Amino acid sequence: MSNSNIDDSQLIDLTQALIRQPSITPKPELCLDIISDFCQDLGWYCRRIDKRDTANLFITTKDCKQHSLLFGGHVDVVPPGDFSLWRFPPFSGHITDGKLYGRGAVDMKSSIAAFLMALKWHHRRLSQPESPSIALVITSDEEGDAIDGTDFVMSTLADEGYCFDCALVGEPTSDNHVGDIIKIGRRGSLSAELTINGTQSHVAYANQRVNPIYSLATFIQQAQTMHWDDGHSDFSATAFCPTKIHADTGASNVTPSHAVCQFNFRFCPASTPESLKKSVTALLDQQHLPYQLTWSRPNLPFFKPPGKLCRLVKDMISRHFQPSCNYSTSGGTSDARFIVGYVQEIMELGPLNATAHKVDEHISLSDLSLLYSIYQSLLGIVVTSPDNVDSN
Ligand SMILES: [Zn+2]
Repeated sequence: MSNSNIDDSQLIDLTQALIRQPSITPKPELCLDIISDFCQDLGWYCRRIDKRDTANLFITTKDCKQHSLLFGGHVDVVPPGDFSLWRFPPFSGHITDGKLYGRGAVDMKSSIAAFLMALKWHHRRLSQPESPSIALVITSDEEGDAIDGTDFVMSTLADEGYCFDCALVGEPTSDNHVGDIIKIGRRGSLSAELTINGTQSHVAYANQRVNPIYSLATFIQQAQTMHWDDGHSDFSATAFCPTKIHADTGASNVTPSHAVCQFNFRFCPASTPESLKKSVTALLDQQHLPYQLTWSRPNLPFFKPPGKLCRLVKDMISRHFQPSCNYSTSGGTSDARFIVGYVQEIMELGPLNATAHKVDEHISLSDLSLLYSIYQSLLGIVVTSPDNVDSN
């Protein structure tokens, strides 16, 4: 295993420089310029593949089409909310008590900085003619609509003939210790807004059959206990969750003309958006009131069984960094779903997720250094022996 012998201050400076850019999705501010400058100084190849408001940066260590490892990341962040709730201004990159504070500190500017520094450590070896090429796709639209970001870049690059063997996505996947979770899949997500239409009535004379609240309550109860699919051995079960209900006329003695419910599915690969839509429609058709149902853009689940590189990385982390390293498919969606179709193996591995999207988001400097060391060793596996990577 290679040793972490960089000057930590370079890693901290780069992370701080990225955090100090208020890159609220989908604005990159100067993040991609900072990254381009870093990479071009090392002789790597940078190209912007922007679309509409989204900025995307494609980086390769060699000027070729075949790349052994693709790092996926995003520089955009969710809004910090009320600044006054933060201990330090959210774009200050303030360091105190060994912790670096700021929006993006774990999700995921620290991962980008750690990966770039780890790549720099391998620079001399990567410059050899026989060494593999490493690529990065960095977008400014992961936290937003995610239409013109990684999805667009990957299809553009595939059309141009680019190939990538394996992918690493630097999302904050770790639960209790850096490196304790490698994500190899994620559940899909599907949202909808349902309106059930009844008849407005005087509460004293109301007919249960025309009060949409009863129909909505029945639907929610049935959906909560519904057997949506037979499950998948590597995923938790498909789950229905209501996120908002509303029915109101402004008066306590009037029943509403309609009731609205927003809900979300997190689904395993045993279900599809189509199968879930069909099941929901069947439940609603049992109700006697008319309804409208509007579905939002679905995020498909993904899953890749661990291949050669995943197993080597898990073994490396277990032996040198975190004995309890495990595979997982938990959590929300990520841009890995847009990369999985173009690679043989994919893993998501990054810092602790405890403060992601929260007030006072921060990373400890020791975790930042540890993440750098893990990425450095991971790159060592790829760079020193191309046979460690299943080629595409
Ligand atoms: Zn993220």
